[in-house]
Amino acid sequence: MRIAFFDTKPYDRPAFDSYAKERGIEIKYFEPRLTMDTVELAKGFDGVCVFVNDDVNKDVVKELDSFGVKAIFLRCAGFNNVDAKACFGKIHVYRVPAYSPYAVAEHAFSLLLTSNRRIHKAYNRTREYNFSLNDLVGHDLYGKTIGVVGTGKIGRCLINIAQGFGMKVLAYDKFPAPIPNVTYVTLDELFKESDIISLHCPLTEESRHMINKDSIAKMKKGVAIINTSRGALINSEDLLDGIKQRKVGSACLDVYEEENDIFYADKSNHIMNDDTLLQLIAMPNVIVTSHQAFLTEEALNNIADTTTENIIKFESGEGNLTNEICYQCGRQNDCQKARNKKCF
Ligand code: NAD
Repeated sequence: MRIAFFDTKPYDRPAFDSYAKERGIEIKYFEPRLTMDTVELAKGFDGVCVFVNDDVNKDVVKELDSFGVKAIFLRCAGFNNVDAKACFGKIHVYRVPAYSPYAVAEHAFSLLLTSNRRIHKAYNRTREYNFSLNDLVGHDLYGKTIGVVGTGKIGRCLINIAQGFGMKVLAYDKFPAPIPNVTYVTLDELFKESDIISLHCPLTEESRHMINKDSIAKMKKGVAIINTSRGALINSEDLLDGIKQRKVGSACLDVYEEENDIFYADKSNHIMNDDTLLQLIAMPNVIVTSHQAFLTEEALNNIADTTTENIIKFESGEGNLTNEICYQCGRQNDCQKARNKKCF
């Protein structure tokens, strides 16, 4: 198969080059993201490979279909940026459901530790021979309550880490499944009782802006909020207000609602237009990373392995096809995938 690879970054290529060569797949790398402006690049290819900020909306899907593109291979787990309904019956969609939940959970916890113990401040101070400890007071995590929203693969890894620190774990999930020493509560109870809240559920219409002024009002004063899932789970302006009102004690953000045109690029010489992000970054108790939670050698390798395997399985129609997703996934009783067939 010939694959057009969008939004290519230097760190993507080594693992993909190696697996593609081994599996006889031809990949053409393009730097731009897939959008309506760049979709023409996909002409003549059998499939496209996209990441979290490619915009595969219904117009893009229509164009891809008219070029004869047969499949979209997401090299990530979340698929909120693909109009799966528009794809149905035309273009198959595959994803990498898990590549290293450890990478994301470890990053979430790194952000918490950094922010709680002011490591980002201390690092800068000692580089300038400032050895003062003023304003660096943190909290013990031992004995604190962490509320985990979404107890899937990443949420569970984070729970293991938190339990290793001696924390009490509350959880909320739309489909709860028992986990030792974890108490499932309602979302409201989780907001009320948690010292730290970490988001690990997908972005859906239901979960969009689950952190907003009403939910923040229910939280403890000084709460730490960690988001390594999807930016739009949080209403950023409400978060900023919560910080200004001293209600939110700290925010650790690996994702941001409006990250599409900002993250993954060097903007250091640009005038930033996003005032909310500017103000968030300016806050001493906010840490922003640029959607890097997945970025480990192990994860990159697993992403390339599974994506190229998805391509081979799609082409041959053989093997376990569970990585295909469609807008009916989880909704219909008579699922093709359950019978190890393509979604349509
Ligand atoms: P997963 O599918 O294993 O787990 C998601 C969990 O969320 C499931 O248990 C599901 O039942 C639950 N859920 C679904 N809707 C919910 C809702 N409205 N409220 C509460 N819970 C709900 O997924 P995962 O692998 O653990 O990944 C979680 C999210 O992490 C992904 O959706 C993706 O957005 C994000 N992610 C971010 C990065 C990064 O680099 N920052 C990398 C990978 C994944």
